[in-house]
Amino acid sequence: MTFEQYFSVAPSATVATPGRVNLIGEHTDYNDGFVLPTVIPQTTVIQIAARKDQTVRVVSSNMQPAAVHTYTLGAEKKSGDWLVYIQGVTHILRTSGITIGGFDALISSTVPTGAGLSSSAALTVGLIKALREVFPFDLTDPAIARLAQRVENEFVGAHVGIMDQMAVCLAKPRQALFLDTRSLHYELVALPEQAGLIVINSGVSHSNIGGGYSARRRSCEEAATQLKVKALRDLGLADLGRLKPLGALLEKRARHVISENARVESAVLALKAGDLARLGQLFKESHASMRDDYEVSTPEIDQLVTIANLDPAVYGARLTGGGFGGSIVALAHLAEAPAAAKRIAQRYLEQVGKEPTILVP
Ligand code: ADP
Ligand code: MG
Repeated sequence: MTFEQYFSVAPSATVATPGRVNLIGEHTDYNDGFVLPTVIPQTTVIQIAARKDQTVRVVSSNMQPAAVHTYTLGAEKKSGDWLVYIQGVTHILRTSGITIGGFDALISSTVPTGAGLSSSAALTVGLIKALREVFPFDLTDPAIARLAQRVENEFVGAHVGIMDQMAVCLAKPRQALFLDTRSLHYELVALPEQAGLIVINSGVSHSNIGGGYSARRRSCEEAATQLKVKALRDLGLADLGRLKPLGALLEKRARHVISENARVESAVLALKAGDLARLGQLFKESHASMRDDYEVSTPEIDQLVTIANLDPAVYGARLTGGGFGGSIVALAHLAEAPAAAKRIAQRYLEQVGKEPTILVP
């Protein structure tokens, strides 16, 4: 159904916001560290029209049944469903002193949800940008990213870092966003001409992510406290020898974050040098670290990564996103990426029996 059919008026603005894939730098953002995401072609499209009252009417064509939901500004509730993201946006904007009125909105997205590709940031950032179109207010992209993060932290109750929101706000196709999540300084780094990305959703959804994610976060905070630093980002490879007294578990968790942070810096150098073999090697090391030290992979994802690494066109592959399911990203030769993605998906289906989805290329 169209916007006009739902709301009997025409939309006055349409905003498309991409999903993102993180190339490397996983679980580093809440440790004040570095990340390196880029956008994927899939987008969340929001059509919007301002209303003259304080009513919000919203429908998502991705939710079945696609019904119109209504609430009043100022009466936002932390509902247990997807509407919490919408109500969170209006609550955070209003309580931040930004004036908005009621509106009608239709959401339709091709970003898969819960696949590690940040459909939630595409939704919250997209809605704030759509509201900026119809209730003109002055917010820069980084300010929008911060507000969208607060929606997840303070309203949804997901203690996510700032990577996803900054990525969907600022990254561009074929450019990676090298972001320092402490200072929010960033640099767009072009992908080498021959670099082809492959993104495949494993079909295993990250159901345990809430509990697992929070536990990892707590471990990092605990390790930083014991090591007397503000965040693990303040430690480097030279400090790995200092981790023993943390005990086996915290040592592994801290080792992942510290080594992963260093790998992001190495990956940026490899990108700039056009060294795809080196970048692929860093992908492999990152995956091993997430699997063995951070323990956020799953058997299916490990198998998908192994299958990808065995493909002759692939330089390296890894789990992308928070983990406990989700998607993999692989670096391949550009011209061979489409065929390689098909081969990898086919072998995964045969060996694991789960239906994968090729999202890129
Ligand atoms: P991810 O961001 O990795 O996709 P999250 O668990 O952070 O996974 O966010 C997924 C949630 O965001 C969905 O369960 C849903 O509540 C909400 N969401 C994302 N996209 C849409 C959409 N197009 N329509 C409605 N809700 C959406
Ligand atoms: Mg999310």
